[in-house]
Amino acid sequence: MLYDAHCHLEISDCNETSGSRLLAFIDSQPIPDNFFGLMSTCQYDIDLVEFLGDHSAKVVPCFGVHPWYSHLFTFDETVDKKMHYSAVLSPAPSDEFLSILPPPTLFSSYLTKLETYLVKHKVSFMGEIGLDKVFRVPWAGFFGSNARVEGVQGRFSPYKVDFNHQRRILQEQLRLAASLEKPVSVHCVKAQGALYEEITAHQEVYNHIPSVCLHSYTGSFDQAMMWVKFFKKERLNVYFSLSQVINGVRENEAKMLLFKQIVKHIPPECLLIETDMTLNQISLPSAEASSSADSLECNCQSDARLSFAGYTQLLDQVFERICETQNWDQSTCRGYLLDNWRAFQHQ
Ligand SMILES: [Zn+2]
Repeated sequence: MLYDAHCHLEISDCNETSGSRLLAFIDSQPIPDNFFGLMSTCQYDIDLVEFLGDHSAKVVPCFGVHPWYSHLFTFDETVDKKMHYSAVLSPAPSDEFLSILPPPTLFSSYLTKLETYLVKHKVSFMGEIGLDKVFRVPWAGFFGSNARVEGVQGRFSPYKVDFNHQRRILQEQLRLAASLEKPVSVHCVKAQGALYEEITAHQEVYNHIPSVCLHSYTGSFDQAMMWVKFFKKERLNVYFSLSQVINGVRENEAKMLLFKQIVKHIPPECLLIETDMTLNQISLPSAEASSSADSLECNCQSDARLSFAGYTQLLDQVFERICETQNWDQSTCRGYLLDNWRAFQHQ
């Protein structure tokens, strides 16, 4: 068992009880320190991520606003709720939808909180942050909310978050990461060009970010090589973190090809592995049945529960596939992946 460079908590289950339960469980497992790179995504999970990072040596806490929650934040102190959501969502939200959305949170105050936590935890990353051109806001208002608009069909609303708004949230977080010299874990869906441009065009601002991890990378192979070349030139580090749930789907030929290309042609110093699952999905020995358990990114069925062995198997599967693709024996592969994880944490 190596590590999980990117995992989550479930927002609908972020409370004191599940926090203590998770903590007891994590600490009882025979896993090394700094095993979990535990991402926060918004104001609803950040305090539990911080609590777990504070109380368990096995958790590296990560602090940031995920693009899927960026609509919950405003830059304008004086804005009212309707004005805010009408400006950042498109089309403008109906009154029913507006009624289930929370009042917007002031981003500048939130950034101060991110800073406080990042400074407090010596080993911590900024994450999960990023850009997403495909995402539509769920009818619940945000993932993990139990709110519901009556009479609507399906899980997702037609509302998309303004790309410039996402970009601004990203920019301010990258600036903070640079000022604190923290590594970042980045989500990017169908916005690879914009992300690349953002980071490469503002190197004078961002060049104190020691490492960028492109988690569950889904861009093209050519784009991946552009990242590698650019970071090499700047003497900075880029990592491609691969997961079974997003990158390792055997039935998907395009994904299999990308997995192969990345593993074969990206320098081995640039590879990490992750689950991108939520820790709450692990069925703990004393766990009470919880109402929902969606993985943040894989949209698993809500009753998808895993044993801890099942969870770590997701890491083993990626690990084995990397060995197979590179024709590495297990100890060579383990050596690279562990060195990379240590380097990512400590640059
Ligand atoms: Zn994630």
